[in-house]
Amino acid sequence: MALKVYNSLTRIKEEFLPLNPPAVKMYVCGPTVYNFLHVGNFRVYVVFNLVRNWLESQHGYDVTFAMNFTDVDDRIIERSHEEKIPSEEVAEKYIVEFKQDFQALGLRPHEMNPKVTECMPEITDFVKDLVQKEKAYQADGDVLFAIDSFAEYGKLSGRRPEDMIAGTRVEIDQKKKNPMDFALWKSAKPGEPFWESDWGPGRPGWHIECSAMILKHLGEQIDIHGGGMDLIFPHHENEIAQSEACTGKHFVRYWMHNNMLNFSGQKMSKSLGNFITVREFLKTYPAEVYKWMILSVHYRSVCDFGEDAVHRAVGGLAKVYSALAVAESYGAWKAENTNLVAKDPAFDKVADAVWLKAIESLDDDFNTPEAFAALYELIRQFNTQVKRGLKASPQWLAKSLIFKNMVQKIGQPMALFQEQPSVFLRRLDDLLLQKTQLSRAEIDVLVTERSQARAEKNFRRSDELRDQLLAMGISVSDGTDGTHWEVLK
Ligand code: AMP
Ligand code: ZN
Repeated sequence: MALKVYNSLTRIKEEFLPLNPPAVKMYVCGPTVYNFLHVGNFRVYVVFNLVRNWLESQHGYDVTFAMNFTDVDDRIIERSHEEKIPSEEVAEKYIVEFKQDFQALGLRPHEMNPKVTECMPEITDFVKDLVQKEKAYQADGDVLFAIDSFAEYGKLSGRRPEDMIAGTRVEIDQKKKNPMDFALWKSAKPGEPFWESDWGPGRPGWHIECSAMILKHLGEQIDIHGGGMDLIFPHHENEIAQSEACTGKHFVRYWMHNNMLNFSGQKMSKSLGNFITVREFLKTYPAEVYKWMILSVHYRSVCDFGEDAVHRAVGGLAKVYSALAVAESYGAWKAENTNLVAKDPAFDKVADAVWLKAIESLDDDFNTPEAFAALYELIRQFNTQVKRGLKASPQWLAKSLIFKNMVQKIGQPMALFQEQPSVFLRRLDDLLLQKTQLSRAEIDVLVTERSQARAEKNFRRSDELRDQLLAMGISVSDGTDGTHWEVLK
């Protein structure tokens, strides 16, 4: 089946056809390393982790994925002044912290993580080349890109420079030939880190780093360039101008942009103060809760963050893991059982149909909500066919294995459903219980009382207690291994 992706440049969904299959070259703009990242910042890394995994596992591509670290920037310099440590130290510290969060979220490392400080010769060569080609000019120690030298400026964002200037959204600056011209190189100010160049000491502008790193590590043309939608203008528009003005070639085949994560109706952002860091979030919630929250929404839609969204994610995951825990109780996690499975062709068929639906959904511009819907259908079918607490049989084991394998197969590209079910479900149930303010001890007392009533054949009392527990949102099931309770899903 063909993969379709929405290309922000053409504004349509297109069939994905890389330049040199099976190779796929992919780049995503990375973080400016001056602070811990918040749960909004990380959306892009979760989304493109799925994109790369899907290209490889489903379509057999050989992906080279690069993401940069912006380790030269005003905010880093500010931070270094605040903390009275060199800006290299600030950057190094937050690169380490980023990698720790990235790993904690179970995302796959990229092939390359270039830093601006490691690409200075390539950046200055790039700027020199643009000056030589008369696409850029010097002004007071700065080097500016001349947008009038690039006829297609504005093609990605759909913004026309003349409209923006007329709308007085652009400050007039005497040294600029066009008010929309932007800095490729900035002359050094006192107290700032600088590098020597033909134009005197200074440092690169923000946009040029991505163009130079892509050229250095991936080449003149790449297949996918990703990032948050807020980067379309000016950052990505400027990357296109620099790269295409320099090489004369079409820079990126598919531009992919994820939407923002909102908190109480506004974009989560450090400057608004309405943020929670990934580090903080993961102190309370497992990483899969975060990934579920992000991926249960299509990447081009706004994702709402907040107590309700987190609760929905915990509840959704708990539903999956509750069914997986049943599969586990029938031995689906014991590898030695694999060869003993009596086949269940009917359930195998159900699982295959769900897999086809999942493929169709992810091939349709990574429609994860639809893939989740397919998964829910599989869970529904499993839950109607397999009940907890029955005597183990080859039939339950077969269904359980088929179910487990399919859930993990769907989850793999999204980095979901890879935990040990019974252990993880307990954690999720605890999170759900927090919301109801019930404690395990309270529930255990009622469940034990009910078991006693049953043992004494006092069914009226045991039914009463079951109803009482149900009203509290707790379901009880009696099996060969005793009574089991969990939060209603
Ligand atoms: P900033 O720290 O605002 O410069 O953002 C760094 C990166 O995180 C950029 O690539 C943004 O696209 C992304 N980003 C920032 N805020 C959000 C958000 N609320 N939702 C999604 N992405 C975001
Ligand atoms: Zn970039």
